[in-house]
Amino acid sequence: MPVLVMKFGGTSVATLDRIRRAAKRVGREVANGYDVIVIVSAMSGETNKLVGFVNETSPMYDAREYDAIVSSGENVTAGLMALTLQEMDIPARSWQGWQVPLKTTSAHGAARIKEIPPENINFKFAEGMKVAVVAGFQGISPEGRITTLGRGGSDTTAVAFAAAFDAERCDIYTDVDGVYTTDPRITDKAQKLEKVAFEEMLELASLGAKVLQTRSVELAMRYKVRLRVLSSFEEYDPNAGTLICAEEEIVESRVVSGVAASREEAKMTLVSVADRPGIAAAIFGPLAEAGINVDMIVQNISEDGETDMTFSCPTDQVKRAEKVLSDAKSAGDIAYTDLIADTDVAKVSVVGIGMRSQSGVAAKMFKTLSDEGINIKVIATSEIKISVLVDRKYMELAVQALHDAFELEKAA
Ligand code: ASP
Ligand code: MG
Repeated sequence: MPVLVMKFGGTSVATLDRIRRAAKRVGREVANGYDVIVIVSAMSGETNKLVGFVNETSPMYDAREYDAIVSSGENVTAGLMALTLQEMDIPARSWQGWQVPLKTTSAHGAARIKEIPPENINFKFAEGMKVAVVAGFQGISPEGRITTLGRGGSDTTAVAFAAAFDAERCDIYTDVDGVYTTDPRITDKAQKLEKVAFEEMLELASLGAKVLQTRSVELAMRYKVRLRVLSSFEEYDPNAGTLICAEEEIVESRVVSGVAASREEAKMTLVSVADRPGIAAAIFGPLAEAGINVDMIVQNISEDGETDMTFSCPTDQVKRAEKVLSDAKSAGDIAYTDLIADTDVAKVSVVGIGMRSQSGVAAKMFKTLSDEGINIKVIATSEIKISVLVDRKYMELAVQALHDAFELEKAA
């Protein structure tokens, strides 16, 4: 039997009624001839509540117990989904991560999946089970302890199962009906995209389009898992949602597919660092070791052998970055007169695989922003992305102007 993976996020299993609704969709795919692996999140709000319990009990908590506690929300929904399916006369049972077993590293709170042996579940499929309901977000470490995959990790569970079982597709049911050209709350001209390439989705996911955990997209790209994002609240439609797939599957070529925006990026400037070989390594080496996600880097023109070095990092890592740099200064590894953190910025990016073969995208982006009187503070580019930092108050305006300039209202 062909295998289909269906993942239901927290809002899609938030009540017994919604679980029933989701189970009906599963029943339809069983009727279509699939063996189905259902991955469930905890009911919405549940994981946050559990994290709150942990922090209140023990601010310097033992990460192994954190995982034992916060993984429990998924156990409840897995059992309830299996029961609901059984009530519909569909042979189903629940699996916790360790029962599969979904084997992970020991990095509690942010574990990585190492292996999913398919034998146990396949054995049950061969016996006539039609649906395996698996608790998302959780696994087991080599030490035999429960682990979790980081917030939003059920997406990654789903993609990993699709890869391990060679599933025809991995459907991610959520509360939005697909991937949009930009955040529809910023402009009502935003269009739902029918198809997005893995590379584009990876950029969009890591740039603040919060539909999928970034790691799940990396995994889907590596194992060529066709991913579909769709709403569990809309009527059944076999072509609903957005398909995230290999570039070759996308016939019509767009230069730009989306405009992403993130408020969670800060601009850090080291004032008057020495302009000599090794200085960038002395700054960014320790930041990397401390796990700071540096994205954009600009080194300004030097004067008298000194220069300003500017970079961006997530807002919630600013304190840690400041500590790392002041420690490096105290240790005599680097010298600077001042460290200025500007959290009043936003990162706006245009993304599209078509950029690889089309020139002039950056020029058009900069012209568009300048026509709106928006000052660009930092620029970074990759093969399929151009990002700029602008004052936060201009974020919406920048997105709207770029969406218009690249005619994304016609992207559908
Ligand atoms: N329940 C977990 C969380 O909220 C995992 C998930 O839903 O993907 O992060
Ligand atoms: Mg999620």
